[in-house]
Amino acid sequence: MDSQTRLRLQAMAFGAGDAMLNSAILLCFAAVGTISYLVPAVILAIALVMNAVFMVLIATGISKRWSDPSLTGMQIFAGCVATLLAILMAPQIVYMFLLNVFVLLSFGSLYFSRRAFFLTWLLLSLSLGACLWIVRDRLEFRVTNTAEWALMWAVVVLSLARFVNINDRVSRLRASLSQKNKALAALAARDDLTGLWNRRKFMELLQEEIERANRSGRRFTVAIIDVDHFKNINDSHGHLMGDAVLKEISRILGESCRATDAIGRYGGEEFTLLMVDTKTEQAVVALERMRRAVEQSDWSRMAPGLRVTISIGSVEWTAAASLSMLLGQADAALYRAKAEGRNQLRVA
Ligand code: GH3
Ligand code: MG
Ligand code: MG
Repeated sequence: MDSQTRLRLQAMAFGAGDAMLNSAILLCFAAVGTISYLVPAVILAIALVMNAVFMVLIATGISKRWSDPSLTGMQIFAGCVATLLAILMAPQIVYMFLLNVFVLLSFGSLYFSRRAFFLTWLLLSLSLGACLWIVRDRLEFRVTNTAEWALMWAVVVLSLARFVNINDRVSRLRASLSQKNKALAALAARDDLTGLWNRRKFMELLQEEIERANRSGRRFTVAIIDVDHFKNINDSHGHLMGDAVLKEISRILGESCRATDAIGRYGGEEFTLLMVDTKTEQAVVALERMRRAVEQSDWSRMAPGLRVTISIGSVEWTAAASLSMLLGQADAALYRAKAEGRNQLRVA
């Protein structure tokens, strides 16, 4: 049995337990003489038969072919039919069944669409109206002795407890969903190989920084970093070693920048760096430090004879510069760094 089926059976057992509880309360009402034993007998029979059918449909996987494989809708429907029948049979405790309807419907909050809720409301309103009309002369809120009072109170307490329990399930489900969503969003913003921001996320961060700079005038610097002759590294040491080099470069870059800076993987062997609150003079110091750190790292530990250097083009934000203008200028500076011999920094 797969885990989804198990979960569905669990949810179903939860609903079945609820139906059993109702039957037990009705049995108590029969025991103190408020209603006939026929009522709990009929309600229990309906609950047993319906839940047995649901269990078979779920366990055998038949319900998987339907749009509501958990059969929540059917369970709620069966519950409503049983409740209407109970109103007809025991109008002296109609309050219990009216409370019941609310507990039943809250099961729907796990699965129901707005349309399903609307339809349920419409159907229930009409059928409740009809049932209440039929028994209108026998409707009662019967509390004639202490036992009946105690049972009435028990009905209220249990209804509230069931309502709270179901809603607690819903809110825990929502919390775990939103946690999953957050984890997914965090994952979707990262580059698989290096764990740096991916291109899309970096662009977002850069765009936000541009807007902030336009509002407050806070300066920032953007740099594009490209590995020199990376094709040769791949060719002579293999792609796996190439990947390892990219990871190591990301680590070095991460170590030599500030916590507020954002590093992204722009593409293949190109990285982007956003240095907030940083003017060119400060940026040059930091970028030079990064260039040297890569150059002086002991690459021969990874592969004999391996040497790695990077070229960097950087640009400082100027008022009214757009994202593509800034990246274009940084790229042009990088091109100059390459043309003038690589392993160096050029500022736009
Ligand atoms: P230059 O100094 O002019 O930048 O030379 P280069 O060889 O670094 O530049 P080029 O753009 O010719 O080559 C980049 C190479 O990077 C080509 C591509 O196969 C390799 N590459 C891109 N992404 C990856 C990756 O994720 N892993 C590995 N191992 N190689 C990659
Ligand atoms: Mg390149
Ligand atoms: Mg390159």
